[in-house]
Amino acid sequence: MLRKAKLATLGLLRSAGAFELVANNKWRRERLLILCYHGISLEDEHQWRPPLYMQAELLERRLETLRAMRCTVLPLGEALTRLRQRDLPPRSVAITFDDGTYDFYKLAYPLLKKHQFPVTVYQTTYYTDHEMPIFNLTCSYLLWKRRGEQLDSARELGLAEAMDLRTELGRHRVVRGLIELSERENLTGQQKNELARRLAGILGIDYAAFSATRILQLMNAHEVAEVGKNGVDVQLHSHRHRTPEDEVLFRREISENRVRIRAMTGTQAIHFCYPSGVYRPEFPGWLEKENVISATTCDAGLVDRHANPFLLPRFVDTSSRTQTEFESWISGLGTLVAVRKAAPQRYVVPED
Ligand SMILES: [Zn+2]
Repeated sequence: MLRKAKLATLGLLRSAGAFELVANNKWRRERLLILCYHGISLEDEHQWRPPLYMQAELLERRLETLRAMRCTVLPLGEALTRLRQRDLPPRSVAITFDDGTYDFYKLAYPLLKKHQFPVTVYQTTYYTDHEMPIFNLTCSYLLWKRRGEQLDSARELGLAEAMDLRTELGRHRVVRGLIELSERENLTGQQKNELARRLAGILGIDYAAFSATRILQLMNAHEVAEVGKNGVDVQLHSHRHRTPEDEVLFRREISENRVRIRAMTGTQAIHFCYPSGVYRPEFPGWLEKENVISATTCDAGLVDRHANPFLLPRFVDTSSRTQTEFESWISGLGTLVAVRKAAPQRYVVPED
């Protein structure tokens, strides 16, 4: 079904009172909705990457909707236990944020606190130790800032082609070139940061000022510790935002991530979220060996009692979701009408 037709159907169902009906029925009561958020814009990030970012006002509206629809927002661990015990309260929801970015600390966390909603943050940890913008995403964002331009200075950066920033594909080519360069030359985090600084220079962007905004930066260790102390549930998302296909390397990503989280919060993380929603059949077994008890994906769905605990679906809420769509998911009806898998992004930049 086309998205437009689907939204029209949802609108009709909503006016007919179907949301309310489904929200209160037994079927929904036996299911948990896990909401997934990424970034909240400090400036204009939602315009650059609508599937990853939303404005704080929109998040606030979502939280108010949860309140208005009388949802019970539960801590993730408690929600999963009560799901198994068939003891979920009506309209149960768990809220999760991926990555643990600075904008969570600055914008999302105060809103969640105001509403007294529990939240789980799936925290990657490499950049919590190295306070600098995330390289791959930063390259993409800086080039987007200069969209519409064409530059010949690519050679100064070691790139073969001129930089054509007029189209998404053109910008994506430059990002790929920079990532490949950093991999070929095995650049350290510091060296990648230098490369991003040089890119900014060529684009006429003040990198020091950009870094000071903390756009595309994670929470630092103090900030993670602070939110952890104030009740935020900090959980696993791999150390370097990656899931190697080699078991030893994969499990090292989990154990390093866990050690870093424990050092910051003093807690033992046992819930995991697949970076970029990518998973393979062997991952659940490897997670189990690392004493992880649940893992969430970016596949759309409500969680029922029979769900594989290592493949839990979520509803990825973004700027492009309408209010009706959001409400349909709270009620449970969204899952019946929507396509199950999120449409793949056209040009995916690895987030690590
Ligand atoms: Zn992530």
